Amino acid sequence: MSDSKQKIHSRSKHKQNYDFKKLVEVCPDLKQYIKLNPKGLETIDFSIPNAVKLLNTALLKSFYNINKWEIPTGYLVPPIPGRADYIHHIADLLAKSYNKVIPKGKNIKVLDIGTGASCIYPIIGNHEYGWTYVATEVDEKAFNSATNILNSNQHLQGKIELRFQKKPEDIFKGVITKGEMYDLSTCNPPFHSSAEEAQKATNRKVKNLTHKKNKSAISNFGGQSNELWCEGGERRFIEDIIRQSKNYANSVLWFTTLVSKQSTLRSVSLALKKASVYKSLTINMGQGNKSSRIVAWTFLNPEKQKQFIELKSGKYFK
Ligand code: SAH
Repeated sequence: MSDSKQKIHSRSKHKQNYDFKKLVEVCPDLKQYIKLNPKGLETIDFSIPNAVKLLNTALLKSFYNINKWEIPTGYLVPPIPGRADYIHHIADLLAKSYNKVIPKGKNIKVLDIGTGASCIYPIIGNHEYGWTYVATEVDEKAFNSATNILNSNQHLQGKIELRFQKKPEDIFKGVITKGEMYDLSTCNPPFHSSAEEAQKATNRKVKNLTHKKNKSAISNFGGQSNELWCEGGERRFIEDIIRQSKNYANSVLWFTTLVSKQSTLRSVSLALKKASVYKSLTINMGQGNKSSRIVAWTFLNPEKQKQFIELKSGKYFK
């Protein structure tokens, strides 16, 4: 299985090269960062955080109806096409439980764990499929930033709700309230195991992008330290999600998480076994020169999934 060969999702709005002329129309500040690549095509310098931020502003405005989007300096600037792919892939996954049709609209409830300063998954999921979200965050500054984004885009009111997670060691406890039912949970976990590891990876990334060390890019590229790392890295974080998900087996139909390191998969599969999930699967994704994957699991067999959906619709279709 060669996941790196896989292309961007067929429903993605980012299948074509960026149309910088149109993007500059909606975000004129982007213009200063546009340059030609060796093939003579327009691009930007992806090692400059402000350039990527403005590209995101333009993409979110053009494709996702987001009129104001700002995140604090030093926080993770999410690559939009990759985040959109996650959403499209889990829409396909959900269709499997909904008679092979992607369910849309506000009655589809999604829990986004660690939504970040950008609130990126809820923005895309709500726009593409009309799903409603509860989004959690432990970092106060990121939480406030996500709040500002929602306040600046009134049409998102009532569609995305933010909940602060007071205990970083808890994933679902304290945020899912009694009787709530979610079709999906999503997560892009903090992926490094220490601030040093996060910094080293950032240095490598910048070096690959610029072929020379660029100090200002290095200090700006990565997210805020607690956004990018947690003790034990993504492996520990994902193991925690899986272990804790067992207590919410009847609250969430499909749990999902991004797994950015191939080497994490082995311990993920052990954790899934230990939790006695009914079914799990790995969905490979590939964008640009980076490949990644989503791991999804459910505790419910097809009969229980049907009951879950019926019970949920009784609750929310009133
Ligand atoms: N979803 C965003 C941000 C991912 S970074 C994106 O895809 O770009 C991971 C986020 O998880 C960080 O913002 C971090 O503060 C948050 N986080 C860490 N532990 C958490 C927990 N227990 N519950 C909720 N969020 C958590």
